[in-house]
Amino acid sequence: MYRTDYHTHTPLCLHAEGSPEAFVERALQQGLREYGISDHAPMPDEPFDNWRMKQADMPAYIEWIERAKTAADGTGLIIRAGLECDWVPGIEPWIAHLDSLYDWDYLIGSIHYLGNGWDFDAPERANQSSPDGLHADWDHYWRGYAAMASSGLFQIMGHCDLIRKWGDRPEGDLSPYYEAPLQAIAKAGAVLEINTAGWHKPCKEQYPAMPVLRMAREAGIPLAINSDAHAPEELGRDFDRAILLAREAGYAELASFDKKRIILHPID
Ligand code: ZN
Ligand code: FE
Ligand code: FE
Ligand code: ZN
Repeated sequence: MYRTDYHTHTPLCLHAEGSPEAFVERALQQGLREYGISDHAPMPDEPFDNWRMKQADMPAYIEWIERAKTAADGTGLIIRAGLECDWVPGIEPWIAHLDSLYDWDYLIGSIHYLGNGWDFDAPERANQSSPDGLHADWDHYWRGYAAMASSGLFQIMGHCDLIRKWGDRPEGDLSPYYEAPLQAIAKAGAVLEINTAGWHKPCKEQYPAMPVLRMAREAGIPLAINSDAHAPEELGRDFDRAILLAREAGYAELASFDKKRIILHPID
């Protein structure tokens, strides 16, 4: 089958490791057909935080991508270029600017900050809600996710239910949280990822959870499988397990991107 891994990082974000050559070697070992690079994109106001590229790193990032292309030359492995962009309210013009900096194959939209500025993803936020409380946080998160999808600026929707990272979630049926965001994703024609990194986080479950995957399938949203690798050994990690889940959710195809054009490949 046609395996791709589009959510991966580089040392430029200051919390990942490995060289372009090491990632390419691992991609080949894992039988990947495409290796997509999508490091944490800079934010407009600097300093912002300590876990992303700075604006001044963009030339080095492009050079990293070019080095990966050189390393992959003659192997048949296709290198794709992207960014993992942070969604916060009002960020649209900045995303459009980032988009203009290179001929990207795709942009990933992710939420790591709630509208109140709470960085729920950060290690020092482990097992905490913001001062607004768990319900408000979920509300903020999913409203933000719908707005991010509706912007139409992203081809891939990153770790869709990352708000679950620490394992805490509201009681009862959670599907009302998912409905509007999934409709927005379907309408935007964007792709959802199974992000296998979740299996290695306190929630011990891929992002997103099975009910979200099933609803996405019913809404006709295409799917990709990504590792969110922060080191070469993590590339393509747990993909066999993710493929089983994709099938279980009813998926028969996985999506890849060539300059933002979706290509669908049968899972078998
Ligand atoms: Zn990261
Ligand atoms: Fe992320
Ligand atoms: Fe990531
Ligand atoms: Zn991510």
